[in-house]
Amino acid sequence: MKVFKILKNNFISTIYPKKCICCGEIIDEDKYLCEFCDKNIERINLDNFCFECGYEKSGCVCKYNIYRFNGVISIFKNIEYAKKAYYSYKFGRKQHYAKFFAKKISDAINKYYKEISFDCICYVPSYKKYQYNHSRYIAEEISKETNIPFIDDLLVCVKKVKKQHKSTIKERLNNVEGKYFAGKHLEGKCVLLIDDIKTTGATLDECTRMLLFAGADSVYCATVLGAI
Ligand SMILES: [Zn+2]
Ligand SMILES: [Zn+2]
Repeated sequence: MKVFKILKNNFISTIYPKKCICCGEIIDEDKYLCEFCDKNIERINLDNFCFECGYEKSGCVCKYNIYRFNGVISIFKNIEYAKKAYYSYKFGRKQHYAKFFAKKISDAINKYYKEISFDCICYVPSYKKYQYNHSRYIAEEISKETNIPFIDDLLVCVKKVKKQHKSTIKERLNNVEGKYFAGKHLEGKCVLLIDDIKTTGATLDECTRMLLFAGADSVYCATVLGAI
């Protein structure tokens, strides 16, 4: 049986060789990025990062007291190689790439949130319930990596809002108000919330507001990309 499995895997990898998430170059089965992209992908330097607001320490906005979440981690900068890699997962509908992003987030959680005992993990949902949700797959994979229980449908998106790429943070906060709903009781729970991109943090903040409203004690966020 084992020989059959090896032959089968070799056959599959010959027909469908593994490709770099970012540039599409053929790579080893155990990798997600080619050597070049791995070297150049824009990782956020977490040693120089404010875990409360999610900006670099030099641009920390904590003094404005904007956010309700207790903390946030982002892994890659929302530019060039990192953006390309994430978008090829998101828009290419390559669900298996979720493992790559989940592993990066899980490693950061284990390192930087190691003192925190999470009760559950959830994600920022999209408007239609059965729409392909890239954050959901990542949240599920993080749950497998970290053993934090995954709760599907903890948050639901109840309102469609206009795109908010060029809005100010205040406009974004107003724009997303009432967009989400947390439909479960979360009394005293410590929640880990996953999303793909943190730009102004308005979406994460609005989801946090609802999780706290449902009784959560604390909410920490983690995103693949961050605009820092
Ligand atoms: Zn590459
Ligand atoms: Zn800060």
